[in-house]
Amino acid sequence: MIFLALLMISSMQAVYAADEEFPKILDQPWDHSPITVYIDDINVPDEYSPSYREQVETALRYWEEGGNGQLSYNPEFEIVNDPQADIRIRWVKNLQEYENVEDGVAGIARPRISGNRFVYVEIVLETGNYQGFAWRQYGDANMLTVAKHEIGHALGLGHSNDPGDIMYPTYKQREDINPLLVRDTLPLVIGSIFMILIITGFLATGWYRHRKQREQLEREYIQQNEE
Ligand SMILES: [Zn+2]
Repeated sequence: MIFLALLMISSMQAVYAADEEFPKILDQPWDHSPITVYIDDINVPDEYSPSYREQVETALRYWEEGGNGQLSYNPEFEIVNDPQADIRIRWVKNLQEYENVEDGVAGIARPRISGNRFVYVEIVLETGNYQGFAWRQYGDANMLTVAKHEIGHALGLGHSNDPGDIMYPTYKQREDINPLLVRDTLPLVIGSIFMILIITGFLATGWYRHRKQREQLEREYIQQNEE
């Protein structure tokens, strides 16, 4: 448990990461509603955490509820099971390694543009990055920030100059708890608690049985004396 706590504390340092420049800003990139979204949680790297999909869904709701207030329309999304959807979201282990993107980029949005409309937008998110030689898994809060930012691009927004805006090109990596670490160690922690309960229970019943035996012995002794 101490080891776990140390791991969590050590992963709380803040670093900065940027993403790729966005080529163009469109006011009304989608000529229909709802905008369909495909979230590929099947072809995922080993480093993928199922909680990442939930972060994307939360990010979609964020924009449906107004987002950063910079959209001139109200987007509505429909999550579909079709890889040919308007917005296609997938994960790679590391963008630098798998998508030839510069170091420090946590997500990219690649729109296919025709006229002044998006045909589709491909969003690629990475599950973590290297710090030196050490692999660092992104926490859920981090994934949510990057997902919101990339979906903002997919809605036609470019970069903001306001550091407090979700469309600011760099962000403070909010490193909380590694979701994979929790997933992998939670059964262990629960298992240990059960083991402790079982051992404590065994010792308690052992002591009780021992006491009971002594009581019986004494009773027998008293009974023998009475005869
Ligand atoms: Zn960006």
